[in-house]
Amino acid sequence: MSVPILIANWKMYKTGEEAAAFIAYLCGRGLPADKRILIAPPFTALEAACLAAQGSGLEVGGQNLYPEEGGAFTGEVSPGMLRAAGASFVILGHSERRRLFGEQDSFIRSKIGAALRHQLTPVLCLGESLEQKSLGETEVVVTKCLESCLEGFSAQELSSLLLAYEPVWAIGTGQSASADDAARVHVLCRTWLGKRFGKAFADRVPILYGGSVTSENLPLFLAREEVQGALIGGASLDERRFAELIQL
Ligand code: PEP
Repeated sequence: MSVPILIANWKMYKTGEEAAAFIAYLCGRGLPADKRILIAPPFTALEAACLAAQGSGLEVGGQNLYPEEGGAFTGEVSPGMLRAAGASFVILGHSERRRLFGEQDSFIRSKIGAALRHQLTPVLCLGESLEQKSLGETEVVVTKCLESCLEGFSAQELSSLLLAYEPVWAIGTGQSASADDAARVHVLCRTWLGKRFGKAFADRVPILYGGSVTSENLPLFLAREEVQGALIGGASLDERRFAELIQL
C-alpha cells in the first residue's frame, strides 16, 4: 500500500486569495515526504490553488462535479472544467451533498463515470447516519452504497478509486469514530471490493477515514494498517494547525 493520504475538504470556505496564501504557507513550511497531501477548495478558488501548488507535489481537486460535458445546467461545473482548472481528483458522494442536496447513489455513480472519463481520481465518500448506526445497519448501508455506486464499472476502470469512510454522525461534530470501529468498517469495504473486483484490486484501493479528525486522533487512525489516510474538514482550515497535522 502507498503512503498515507490526507485530504483537506475546505467545504464553502476560502477565496482564491486565501487559498493561495494557505498553500504558500504550507509549501514554505515544507511538505512531508511520507504522505500525499490533497486539497479540495471551493470551485472559485480552484485555479488559484492549483497555480499556488504548482511544482510542490501538493494535489488539488474539486468537491463535486456535474456529470455532463456542458449544457444548460445553471450553477454546475463539469469534469472538463475541473481538469482545465488543474484538478486531479474530485470528492463525490459527500454526506453533505446527499443530505442537503438530495444526491442518490445512482447519480453519484454517474459522477464517478464522468470523473473517470476525464482522468479525475474519484474519492467516493460513504457512511452511516446516527440512526442507522443505532439500528446496527452500518454494514448494510456501506455495502448497499458500494453496490450501487460502483455498479457497472470494471476493476481496470476504477484503478484510481479512493474510498472515504465517513460516518455521518462524526462529520463536524467533534465526535470521531474510534480507530477500532473505523478499521472494522474499512475491512468490511475491502472485503466487499475483493469479492466484487478481486483481491489484487481490493488490496490497492486506499480507504481513508473522515469525521472529526484532529491532530490528537490522526495518529491513532494512521497507526492502523486498515486505514490509509484521512479526509479532514474543520481541522484543515487553519494553515498553522493543518501544517502541524500533516507532519504527524
Ligand atoms: C468532511 O468534511 O468530510 C469532514 C470529515 O469534516 P470534519 O473533519 O470537520 O468532521
